[in-house]
Amino acid sequence: MNKVAVFPGSFDPITTGHESIIKRALPMFDKIIIAIGVNALKDGYFSLEKRKQWIEKVFSGEKRIEVKTYKGLTVDFCKKEKANYILRGLRTSADFEFERVIAQMNRSMNESIETIFILSTPELSAIASTVVRDILRNEGDASKFVPSAIRKELK
Ligand code: ADP
Repeated sequence: MNKVAVFPGSFDPITTGHESIIKRALPMFDKIIIAIGVNALKDGYFSLEKRKQWIEKVFSGEKRIEVKTYKGLTVDFCKKEKANYILRGLRTSADFEFERVIAQMNRSMNESIETIFILSTPELSAIASTVVRDILRNEGDASKFVPSAIRKELK
């Protein structure tokens, strides 16, 4: 059976923190679908198309990574994609508490889907898309927080 994981998130924009989690998870799965969730109540800072393009560029050489967008529940998207794993990254204990509730709720909705957590490396644990957006909004240099493949475009 193919091991397929969905890595859901906003990726607004993708950071070196996300990139690291995906690269570290890749040896564990046959395929990882990076899934940009469309939030009906709130637009992203960057457009969905831009976010998707950037992620595709970062992983352009990797055939086992796909980038998709989805609306609705993550568990429903997993079922549609025949994915049995949800991948998430953990930076802090606050992340853990937030993720715990979502993972347990997801499991109660679909027991065949396991959430797998990867702990961020210490040097990447302070990186968040929110902060990257603030830096860019204020015309600062956020280049060291975004993957090298898209650094020029985000400057
Ligand atoms: P969401 O809006 O669902 O939190 P994000 O795009 O912010 O989406 O994050 C997607 C996933 O990546 C989450 O599991 C989040 O904890 C993880 N993540 C974000 N930044 C980092 C980082 N610096 N190190 C490790 N994991 C991270």
